[in-house]
Amino acid sequence: MPVLTGFSHENHRLACDGIPLDDLAAAHGTPLYVYSAALLRARYTALDEAFGARPHAIHYALKANSALAIARLLCELGAAADANSAGEIDVALRAGFAAGQIVFTGVGKTRAELERAIALGVRAINAESAGELTRIDAIAGAAGSRARVALRVNPDIDAGTHPHISTGLHVNKFGVSLDEAHEIFASLARWPHLSIVAIHMHVGSQVTSLEPIGRAGAVMVDTVRGLRARGVALEYVDMGGGLGISYDGACVPGPAAYVAALVEALRPIDDLPIVIEPGRAIVGPAGALLATVVDVKVRRHADREQRFVVLDAGMTELMRPALYGAFHRIEALEERSGELVSTDVVGPSCESTDVVGTERSLPPLQVGDRVAIRDAGAYGFAMASNYLRRPLPAEVLVDGDRTRVIRRRQTVEDLLALEA
Ligand SMILES: *Cc1c(COP(=O)(O)O)cnc(C)c1O
Repeated sequence: MPVLTGFSHENHRLACDGIPLDDLAAAHGTPLYVYSAALLRARYTALDEAFGARPHAIHYALKANSALAIARLLCELGAAADANSAGEIDVALRAGFAAGQIVFTGVGKTRAELERAIALGVRAINAESAGELTRIDAIAGAAGSRARVALRVNPDIDAGTHPHISTGLHVNKFGVSLDEAHEIFASLARWPHLSIVAIHMHVGSQVTSLEPIGRAGAVMVDTVRGLRARGVALEYVDMGGGLGISYDGACVPGPAAYVAALVEALRPIDDLPIVIEPGRAIVGPAGALLATVVDVKVRRHADREQRFVVLDAGMTELMRPALYGAFHRIEALEERSGELVSTDVVGPSCESTDVVGTERSLPPLQVGDRVAIRDAGAYGFAMASNYLRRPLPAEVLVDGDRTRVIRRRQTVEDLLALEA
């Protein structure tokens, strides 16, 4: 028996862990998100095992995909959690994570969110500014407690990723500059009700070069040494998330190379455990969005024909192409005979940006055919919207020979239930 993990072609059909996707689409309708539990486990385990004996913790970034069943699966594997809002903290608790396993990140945490995080006693609040330190200190003081804080330092490093998802540059809104960090370290007495337990950095998302990782690590080592010189003892260092995946089949560093680069860069401070906050690298390749062709039209230009294939899924279900011009592979679920034709695959919304992929070589798809939009497990469902009153799609998890609906399709009644 071959070990089947993830999405592959079998007998001319695209399958998830051996289960034909066309069967899932027929049973559950489209648009439909399908996840492979085996691939989720494999991707988490690859990161975890790459650390070897080096003390570490993997705080799964819930913002990539916070489906309860997926969060629970990762919790059971031994992951910890990275939450970006009070809502994600609640999902983490519901999924089984202890408060002490949650780090709370976010550029604009509200007072209510900070109060909740402090009352719960999360592992750390990843603080973004001196102003936020002051607010955390006041809340902890009023509650008669001491807040655990990791200061987010912006290392001013170009992660070489898309401008909309790079975060570690001086011009980005995230964290405090290195200069400001040193001012903060020099005046920690200003905040008597908090403990700095870690330094936090996150250089960006979809990082596909190890070079920025090495440079961020070097900045981390310097920062930790500076703090030690002041007598501040840290519990760990948090290098954030950001490991990229290959959306187009090009070669990118895998978990082993990424972790090796981190461990190497942080060798001078190898007494401190390493925390990472990966989202995309764990869940991205483990999900696909299935859609059905609802219309085909051919536009004749002077020099060529343009073929549009309109799907029943688009930017409302998967926003990444419209938001970042992101590339996702598009594959027919059933192999079709006929020559490949250049095809613009588009969504149904009345927005010109609602394009899933342009100039793709695809079989001559017909109305009713189904396709998979690959590597949609991260920032797919999590960013879906109800624009045009489109109900959120259903999600199924394939786990061995069991397929489970982990979220039923939303209905218009669900939407209207909230309205006067
Ligand atoms: C977005 C984000 C992550 C997760 O990023 P991925 O690219 O999905 O790994 C982790 N930490 C922070 C602070 C983030 O903003």
